[in-house]
Amino acid sequence: MTVVPRGVALLGSTGSIGTTALRVMQRHPDRFRVRALTAFSNAALLREQVEQFRPAYVGLVRAAGEPCVEDWACGDDCLVGAASRDDVDIVLNAVVGAAGLDATLAAVRAGKRVALANKESLVMAGPLVREACAAGGGEIIPVDSEHSAILQCLAGRRPSDVRRLVLTASGGPFRTWSRERLDRATVADALHHPTWRMGRKITIDSATLANKALEVIEAHFLFGLPYDRIEVVVHPQSVVHSFVEMVDGSVLAQLGVPSMELPVLYALTHPERVADTGVPPFDPVELSPLTFERVREQDFPTLHLGVDAGRRGGAAPAVFNAANEQAVSLFLDGRIAFGDIPRSIASALSALESHVGTSRTALLDADRAARRHVREMCGC
Ligand code: NAD
Ligand code: MG
Repeated sequence: MTVVPRGVALLGSTGSIGTTALRVMQRHPDRFRVRALTAFSNAALLREQVEQFRPAYVGLVRAAGEPCVEDWACGDDCLVGAASRDDVDIVLNAVVGAAGLDATLAAVRAGKRVALANKESLVMAGPLVREACAAGGGEIIPVDSEHSAILQCLAGRRPSDVRRLVLTASGGPFRTWSRERLDRATVADALHHPTWRMGRKITIDSATLANKALEVIEAHFLFGLPYDRIEVVVHPQSVVHSFVEMVDGSVLAQLGVPSMELPVLYALTHPERVADTGVPPFDPVELSPLTFERVREQDFPTLHLGVDAGRRGGAAPAVFNAANEQAVSLFLDGRIAFGDIPRSIASALSALESHVGTSRTALLDADRAARRHVREMCGC
């Protein structure tokens, strides 16, 4: 059977997921054509990627004051520019943070598949993204390993077959730390993730468990389950990527060595499986033992702050997300302590309770207000 290659726009091509995705696509030149690449500021790496993959469209958002590059699109609009192109079938959104929202919306409105690593866009605007999918005929396929696992377990089942989802969490670098020690954790401590090599923001999110809160909300919107049927369990080895419990009590799981190559490939090819040798062979003995623990909710308050914001709905998930992004950025800059991250988020959520609108404008307002609130709290 001849395979027609699918056009891919890769947003955030210079990041951890972006470079992983290029490695995956390079192994399957008959299946994927890279039509567009965008990055924030690393023009040198982007140029190397352009030389190798020869996309028709290149976008560099660039920091204020940096010059544009001739022949490349520049500024925030290049994400939507790449995501809306006619020669693009799949938009792999691997941008970090709320900056990915408009591209997700534009792509699904244009009827495209979004292979979504940028969970923040779905968290802050789940109902809007759903509406845009319905209006434009687009779809969201998760890249996140937990959600990819759930999607793989759910293939061919009816929603009514499912009792609950159990997302696994590595527990991050502070899984065994006391609460007192946690409060004083340094940036270097927090960036030292035990099982995954990822961008800086998601690595800090894994240390606070904000990442798992974002993933619970992401799962709610992707799979349509209420929050009381989505649970989290700590699994330090990151081999079981998540569980699905069926109504009869049978439990399905998807396993694999911790690598984002498989979830990236699956998001591009779902529901098809494509032969691939990128992931090291699975050896259960080598990977043993596999262990599971309860989440220490009292010591990692960011998890329930996020899940509560998800339950509250309205603009609360957008406030949670933006307060977290701002607090993480201040922590990485050495301006606030690790323990200030949940304190900042809690304060923003209670100060901005009146933000309930869910239009794009209302959500962006709530996002800005939450960032301002967190900066004011630290006097930054
Ligand atoms: P990263 O920091 O390594 O890369 C981010 C990419 O986005 C870079 O190419 C950067 O140039 C671009 N970018 C940053 N800010 C931008 C902006 N304002 N406008 C446009 N582009 C911008 O991050 P990452 O680890 O690759 O994560 C990307 C996304 O994937 C995040 O949402 C993260 O939560 C999600 N994710 C990552 C992993 C992982 O293993 N790294 C796993 C699951 C989900
Ligand atoms: Mg994940």
